[in-house]
Amino acid sequence: MQKDYNTLENIIRLPHKYAAGPIFTRFYDGLRAGKILGSTCPNCKKVLVPARSFCPQCHANLDEFVEVAQEGEVVSWAYSDKEFFGSPGKPPFITALIRLDGTGCNFLHLLGGDGLNTLENVQAKVKKGTRVKVVWNEDKIGRMLDIKYFEPVS
Ligand SMILES: [Zn+2]
Repeated sequence: MQKDYNTLENIIRLPHKYAAGPIFTRFYDGLRAGKILGSTCPNCKKVLVPARSFCPQCHANLDEFVEVAQEGEVVSWAYSDKEFFGSPGKPPFITALIRLDGTGCNFLHLLGGDGLNTLENVQAKVKKGTRVKVVWNEDKIGRMLDIKYFEPVS
């Protein structure tokens, strides 16, 4: 049967608000105050960051918040010179998994500073295990990007 219409692809931008829930509300409030909050699992004792409502390993309910270190080490990173819908900013940007000191999981955020503006510079300066520390945005509004990025510790 021959169709009498064409289908076209389109991207629809849909601004919306959502309830962050009590755990992420407290986590974001912590960011606004310049603190990174995690959750401590009462069973496996892991500190998970961002704070969350249950442990993904042992499924225990988590309701104990703890302020975590603002330094850690790079586990892996990816350099992007392309902007895409939902990208964290203008390219280039470097997303990274960071293991903050004393935590039991990786924290996904950005790397920046210290001349990290080309792939070659990032390759030269950032390795697995490179020590990094948080750099805060001057104006914090209670969002993940209150942390501007993590920069290598010199
Ligand atoms: Zn656990």
